[in-house]
Amino acid sequence: MRGFARAVLLLFALAGLALLGSSVGGLRPFWESGAAPRQSGGTPPLEPLDPGAGRAPAAPPAAEEEREVEVRAPRDPRGAWSELNEEAIAALERGELELAVELFRRCRGAVPEEPVFTANLAEALARLARARHARPEERAEAIEELAEAVALAPERTELASLLERWRREAETEAEFWTDETAHFLLSYDGARTELLKTGYVEVTRLLEEVHDELGLAFNHYPVGHGDPKIRVVLYRREEFAAVTGIGHWAGGVYDGVVRIPLGDFSRERRALERALRHELVHAFVRSMGGAEVPAWLNEGVAQWHEGPPGSRALAVQAARARLAESGLLPLEELGQSFATWNDEDRIARAYAQSLALVDHLVRWYGEHVVLALLAGCGEGTSAEETFRLRTARGLEDVVAELREDL
Ligand SMILES: [Zn+2]
Repeated sequence: MRGFARAVLLLFALAGLALLGSSVGGLRPFWESGAAPRQSGGTPPLEPLDPGAGRAPAAPPAAEEEREVEVRAPRDPRGAWSELNEEAIAALERGELELAVELFRRCRGAVPEEPVFTANLAEALARLARARHARPEERAEAIEELAEAVALAPERTELASLLERWRREAETEAEFWTDETAHFLLSYDGARTELLKTGYVEVTRLLEEVHDELGLAFNHYPVGHGDPKIRVVLYRREEFAAVTGIGHWAGGVYDGVVRIPLGDFSRERRALERALRHELVHAFVRSMGGAEVPAWLNEGVAQWHEGPPGSRALAVQAARARLAESGLLPLEELGQSFATWNDEDRIARAYAQSLALVDHLVRWYGEHVVLALLAGCGEGTSAEETFRLRTARGLEDVVAELREDL
């Protein structure tokens, strides 16, 4: 029966496509649609070991690679397979990725020459692969699915480079050991005896301490409620460069995973602690505010929490002194990640201004306002809008106040 039904459907589909003729384009391919949706990955925060040192990035991180492509319903729903295509799009939008892949696969199986079906299958596979890749035990399947997406859509170079990065990562981490704690999965090369024997105790204890501290500060706990534990990976410097594509100048990166380059553990404890604290803040900010948190807010909050007790006042003082000399940048330039800029002096100014702004907000408006800005971003309200609702002032007013106050 099923075979008969399929044959009939196929006939309908072919008839539908024949009727559509040149208007097959009515099955609008998603790559012609508008900008990427809100849940796109954005540029992950990354930072120089010492922003003041102003070493420039060697290459931008994998921003484009994480971007989802918007999918829309076909304009013209004629034809059985285009109806199934619509069903698949609906499944994709509901987040039922495996079902979407299955349905797109059937569309493409029936009409392999229809480019929209091929492209939609590639997008669904890419989304399924990204979702799987977040779970360490499913990374091998994720790589296979992404490879299939790349084969279907070779023109999407961002998928090809993501695949290359995932393969490099899998190769680098093949021999890595993972320690699991209440909130973290900590991975590192098992051949690094200083970490395997004793170092991991120190690092996992620190991670759990910082987790509790940030949980209280943000009144938000990113792990649990179905959200996975936070992955933290410690790399040798050359491994870090290979996996992230970021030069040895970087102190760490958060791209859904906290990735930290580490040379000699016993000699780099303090820098490691600072980098872990900083990147964990980015993990909390991502969980609370999503991908649309402005870079100045994200980096400001990360620097606010990165230092050991007592170091914050000194860091704020240094940032303000720098800005008093260099002047302030317009806020609109600090919305997108500035860690990928090439102008070393501007990078340092941007980090300094981010910290000084967050410090000013905390002192004059209260820490709860900063938290409200983050939470608002998570609910789709911009930081500017939340700030206006709360204070009847704009964020540019805050920049002007800071300028006066320096
Ligand atoms: Zn950062």
